[in-house]
Amino acid sequence: MFNFDYQTLPWNIIFGTGALKRLPGELADLGYSRALVLCTPDQVIQGQGIVTLLGELAVGIFDQAQMHVPAATVDQAIDRVEALKADCTVSIGGGSTTGLGKALALKLGLPNIVIPTSYAGSEMTNIWGITENDRKVTGRDNIVVPTLTIYDPELTLTLPAKFAGPSGLNAMAQAVVNVASANVNPIVQLMAIEAVRALAHSLPMVIAEPENMEARAEALYGACLAGGSLGTGTTSLHHRLCHTFGGTFNTPHAETHTVLLPHCVAYNAAATATGTQKLAEAMGVDNAAVGIFNLAKTVGAPTALKDIGIQEADLDRAAAIATETPVNNPETVTKERVRELLQRAWAGEMPRA
Ligand code: NAD
Repeated sequence: MFNFDYQTLPWNIIFGTGALKRLPGELADLGYSRALVLCTPDQVIQGQGIVTLLGELAVGIFDQAQMHVPAATVDQAIDRVEALKADCTVSIGGGSTTGLGKALALKLGLPNIVIPTSYAGSEMTNIWGITENDRKVTGRDNIVVPTLTIYDPELTLTLPAKFAGPSGLNAMAQAVVNVASANVNPIVQLMAIEAVRALAHSLPMVIAEPENMEARAEALYGACLAGGSLGTGTTSLHHRLCHTFGGTFNTPHAETHTVLLPHCVAYNAAATATGTQKLAEAMGVDNAAVGIFNLAKTVGAPTALKDIGIQEADLDRAAAIATETPVNNPETVTKERVRELLQRAWAGEMPRA
């Protein structure tokens, strides 16, 4: 029962309200002086703010980060790095921007400083992804783990509520699969349980009281730990299904996680009874799957695949693709049972085994 392998990642984290102001000093202490700031077109104002904060330590901005890190975007960013002789990147944004910084670290060995503004948690993992010819290739490599991550909850104040809920549930998924999993790693599980507790406690307040900085700090802390559990832990049927829907049907990332998570927890409940009970305790509910479903509703996040662009006719194909190859999962995975799970998730029904 207590047999496990555990390897940590080279995390270097500063967490705190107002922590952003430490960026110039920390960057200089690390020995960098030519930072290229990365952001999406939606966050140019925040990106420019970082350029201003860094002053002469910044050499420019690349504001074309995109969801799923297209290879063409990586190439453009590499050209910018080379033209400006940048010696590090500073990503400000969600998982898409962090993903671009990671891709540059992978391709160029370029140090990446990350300032997360959503709950994606990518900054805590060694997972990279680059999309070429409609196919996202992913891998694990410690070189992509940020040289430094600065979490400042104030930066989430601009996160639209309709995105904050699903983003928080996306984080929760990373932790949930490491509480109720096939081969529980006890060290990762500790981090994951605390992530589930913090997210379940804080997310409703983040939505109901957007200015509540205590809640925002707790949610970002939960996302940090959730990402850490994904980085050092495992994935299961849940991530396989999300990858299938995102990759084949182009559903939105965080919303897909939100809809599928309660159904995957219910699917595995009998096979991981102890872990599932720990999940329920961390959330303060009787039934973990129902608790996650209700949490999604409370934060105004979608709970049905039919509401995020999936047709009922797509479900057979999705079940077939997701079960084509073996899945690391506590409960045996069959196409038929997955198809049943998807039917309930499509209709937005309550999760059940
Ligand atoms: P995202 O980064 O695409 O962000 C969605 C939109 O919200 C973007 O336009 C972004 O600029 C904007 N945004 C983010 N924070 C904001 C803020 N505070 N204020 C205003 N606008 C803000 O989406 P995401 O959900 O953060 O990340 C999803 C991506 O991250 C996916 O591609 C996913 O595969 C990847 N991801 C990777 C890992 C990993 O370990 N490699 C983990 C989780 C997610």
